[in-house]
Amino acid sequence: SDNELTAWDRDHFFHPSTHMAQHARGETPNRIIKGAEGVYITDRNGKRSLDAFAGLYCVNVGYGRTKITDAIAAQAAELPYYHAYVGHGSEPSIRLAKMVIDRAPQGMSRVFFGLGGSDANETNIKLVWYVNNVLKRPEKKKIISRWRGYHGSGLMSGSLTGLSAFHNLFDLPFSQVVHTEAPYYYRRPDRSQSEEQFAQHCADKLEELIQVEGPDTIAAFIGEPVLGTGGIVPPPKTYWDKIQAVLAKYDILLIVDEVITGFGRLGTMFGSDHYGIKPDLITIAKGLTSAYAPLSGVIVSEKVWRILEQGSDEFGAIGHGWTYSSHPLCAAAGVANLELVDEMGLVENARTVGAYFRQGLTDALGAHAHVGEVRGEGLLAAVEFVKDRHDRVFFDASEKVGPRVVAALLENGVIARAMPQGDIMGFAPPLCLTRQEADVVVAAAAKAVKSVLG
Ligand code: PLP
Repeated sequence: SDNELTAWDRDHFFHPSTHMAQHARGETPNRIIKGAEGVYITDRNGKRSLDAFAGLYCVNVGYGRTKITDAIAAQAAELPYYHAYVGHGSEPSIRLAKMVIDRAPQGMSRVFFGLGGSDANETNIKLVWYVNNVLKRPEKKKIISRWRGYHGSGLMSGSLTGLSAFHNLFDLPFSQVVHTEAPYYYRRPDRSQSEEQFAQHCADKLEELIQVEGPDTIAAFIGEPVLGTGGIVPPPKTYWDKIQAVLAKYDILLIVDEVITGFGRLGTMFGSDHYGIKPDLITIAKGLTSAYAPLSGVIVSEKVWRILEQGSDEFGAIGHGWTYSSHPLCAAAGVANLELVDEMGLVENARTVGAYFRQGLTDALGAHAHVGEVRGEGLLAAVEFVKDRHDRVFFDASEKVGPRVVAALLENGVIARAMPQGDIMGFAPPLCLTRQEADVVVAAAAKAVKSVLG
């Protein structure tokens, strides 16, 4: 029965990112989702909500796509599992690798598959360290990440993440990880700076850090094209050009974490295409399968691949892999999903409906006394709330303004995300969002803001 389910959940299910004691006491929402179609999810009480966060920025093609579920079922019947170790493979894994490289930015060569974004970033760091061993410079080991970056919640991936909740109590970050300034233009310390000046400031800070740590000790820089969980923050103009110039000067590899931005979210196939980034390694997950099955990957550039090959001639087979690397069911989901992204024209839709949606948010909320900024790119958007927009005074965290607005929005039938750092309402709807659905989200958001902030 429903009551039984709720009791079992409270007593036995350890939820991620949840206040454990509150949940055990029954104080947290216990919303059990039963079904979904298009951009809507339905809970067991029959309440329908427009999911304007696509789960966790991942159900890019929308819910209920039988092309993908049929492909998973057919693959399960034909071959549910075989491993990919020592050169083994399955048809969908090979097809998917080819499809990913065909869509990847120029110069990319091979894909290593994992299960989620966190493990893919673990893979990235092992590959970077391996490369520097092959190149006989093992002391070049440190990784630079950004404050507010999100790269996962494992031990290394959590170290790369630049949010203190993922460090405190866990003895992280690891000593090989150092963080530099977030390219958060709205929160720039010197408000007189233009976007280009602030981008230069971020590049200068990066160079300063490299000098302090010692250029010979820095192996790689990791960043998301648009900061995601750290606040949905597109970079200031010229940021990536300036950062890449510094990395090239010190022979530092660039890992671009495209877990959110890969496969269309910004209105281009990859965020790297959007910002003219030339990655050495790319992290992918989420949009690779639209979360119909768990699958991630590391895309390796031709330059890095050549060094890995050279290393295997010296050291033998690489000591890295998971039982479920390129799991056939997940790969079959990926193949059907990427075909659907093309068939439905979702990259273009993210660009056009994304622009329409963000304009709608700006028109409805941009002039509100407690809205500091409406920002985004493609179908990734955020509204940042402030106490005083003129003097850019932020609300006290204890007022929970962001979570309250997002809760009011849910009452209005729309799911957004209260971003964990600051009073920010985040949107990352499925890429199949229509203009009419965008209108529904904007109207509900305006109503929610009015009810909480006047
Ligand atoms: N990298 C980025 C940019 C992400 O947004 C996420 C998750 O949201 C991850 C990595 C971690 O992925 P996962 O939760 O699948 O481990």
